[in-house]
Amino acid sequence: MPTYTAPLRDMRFLLHEVFAAEQTLTALKGFEEVTADVMDAVLEECAKLCQGVLFPLNQVGDQEGCTFDNGEVTTPTGFKDAYRQYAEGGWCGLTADPAYGGQGLPEALDYLVAEMVGAANLSFGLYPGLTQGTILALSAHGTDEQKKVYLPKLISGEWQGTMCLTESHAGSDLGLLRTKAAPNGDGSYAITGTKIFISAGEHDMSENHVHLVLARLPDAPEGSRGISMFLVPKFLVNADGSLGARNQAAAGSIEHKMGMKASVTCVMNFDGAKGWLVGQPHKGLAGMFTMMNKERMFVGTQGISQSELAYQSAAAYAKDRIQGRAADGPKAPDKAADPIIVHADIRNRLLTARAIIEAERALTLWAHMQVDVSHRHADKAVREKADDFAALLTPIVKSAGTDFGSEITNACLQVLGGHGYIREWGMEQLVRDVRITQIYEGTNTIQALDLIGRKLSLGGGRLFKAFVTETDQVLARLKGRNELAAFTNPFAEARDLLIDCTNWVVEHSANDPNLRGAVANEYLRLFAFTCFAWMWTLMAEQATAKKDSGDPYYDAKLQVGRYFMARVLPQIHSLDAVVRAGTAGAMDFADAAF
Ligand SMILES: Cc1cc2nc3c(=O)[nH]c(=O)nc-3n(C[C@H](O)[C@H](O)[C@H](O)COP(=O)(O)OP(=O)(O)OC[C@H]3O[C@@H](n4cnc5c(N)ncnc54)[C@H](O)[C@@H]3O)c2cc1C
Repeated sequence: MPTYTAPLRDMRFLLHEVFAAEQTLTALKGFEEVTADVMDAVLEECAKLCQGVLFPLNQVGDQEGCTFDNGEVTTPTGFKDAYRQYAEGGWCGLTADPAYGGQGLPEALDYLVAEMVGAANLSFGLYPGLTQGTILALSAHGTDEQKKVYLPKLISGEWQGTMCLTESHAGSDLGLLRTKAAPNGDGSYAITGTKIFISAGEHDMSENHVHLVLARLPDAPEGSRGISMFLVPKFLVNADGSLGARNQAAAGSIEHKMGMKASVTCVMNFDGAKGWLVGQPHKGLAGMFTMMNKERMFVGTQGISQSELAYQSAAAYAKDRIQGRAADGPKAPDKAADPIIVHADIRNRLLTARAIIEAERALTLWAHMQVDVSHRHADKAVREKADDFAALLTPIVKSAGTDFGSEITNACLQVLGGHGYIREWGMEQLVRDVRITQIYEGTNTIQALDLIGRKLSLGGGRLFKAFVTETDQVLARLKGRNELAAFTNPFAEARDLLIDCTNWVVEHSANDPNLRGAVANEYLRLFAFTCFAWMWTLMAEQATAKKDSGDPYYDAKLQVGRYFMARVLPQIHSLDAVVRAGTAGAMDFADAAF
């Protein structure tokens, strides 16, 4: 059986020791009260809910899945009650505006909450995750009236938010979408079309659904510049806020999937459903990106959450399962064999997982702090710089979190041998559940293209230059600190390699339109490893300062960090070589020969 204990110690180390979150956050408008104690209290409450309520439902949800009958979706046993507890605890509106009933807490804290919720129950966590994105999009682009009617109910969790983008012929290329929006003449629109793969499109845990639907107005230009965003409720809302008539927006069927079986995925039919424009006409994709950027980081978090759960479960198993003897002599001579944790391969799998997870957690937290700073800092220049960092890191957090999520859950399944493959042990569920995170919210290739294309080009390379400056400052600050050389040297080497490789890509892609596409995934991974080396350096700085405290946490932190630098980071060299191989062989291979 998988085991999960919320990694509160590691979260607190990052928040309070590595990033001095209280100092940064309390200086931001509206976060004056977000002290370290407040953050700790929120995390502890969340851990209780995750361990006590959500985690016990994870395997039940996988076994029962969601059922569909005559347009209605029933979630697995226990989900409805768990959702009620979640909503009553105020978790759906953790970051939302207190003026509409939200908790007004930072995105940084929300990330840590989302990681715990995802680890405890990935399927469950997607429901409120989508509502949060809807809240964000409506807060940024909705009219005052829309905010007044919809935000309080979304924030309280009574209503579910969804994002309706994908159509059968329009996935990565949303410019192809065909759903229509015809003006009704009274300020509303008739929305007609079919959306597929809509998460949380219909279910029994909330009273109403608020669908954010991408559609085309009659005069819309072709492609992605002709897309508008509409709010389409399942039940229309009366003037007094009560629920009115059923709208013509309904689930036609649900998908039977590889994993995340307790998270319902619907075909949604809009048959002249009443909807209202959100934001400007034809600017819907930009509006939806407010939600998608949040969801992309959220999906990266889902990947980290499954890695953590898999790591904890595999580590516990490895200490218990006995097979074979240690190469350097028996470690449990009183037993028939040693626990498998004595074997170097098992240790490598576990340490590689942990070294990546802890760096990802640090990077993802730092990126979310940048989001908070970009929203609330008093100084415009600081806000813009933080926004650039968040934009640069979003595709890395999403892709690296989920690609490693798949690799780590697989590696941890291997630790259980054949038992990992057997359902009752619960490890195969993690491998199946996490797989979708590499696909939805823009496939990881689309993320890598965003990084190597748009993000590198923006403002003449402004985002990358800011990254170089930021990391330069870290290295300059730590220069001469010999006790940190095992961290600063490999980090500096990785950073130099990334800079060279980036220059190579920019230079060579000028004459080769296929180059960026051919090397995007390897480039993103090289960037991710460099960021992880940066994060390990920051963590090592703090852990080294406390290493005489007697707390074994700091020793372990430094050991895992050194392991990362020695054993994981060298992959940057092969990644660099692959990037520099460019399009070699791929583009001149005849289509017919595939
Ligand atoms: C379980 C589940 C839940 C989902 N939830 C939602 C939801 O709530 N709302 C919603 O709107 N959608 C949702 N989706 C849809 C999801 O976002 C899409 O599946 C995803 O964006 C990919 O689109 P596609 O499946 O049409 O694949 P395609 O776009 O057809 O892509 C197929 C392959 O081609 C590659 N590819 C495509 N274009 C390019 C390119 N330009 N360059 C290089 N490679 C390219 C892709 O990376 C992929 O490997 C969900 C999907 C699933 C399976």
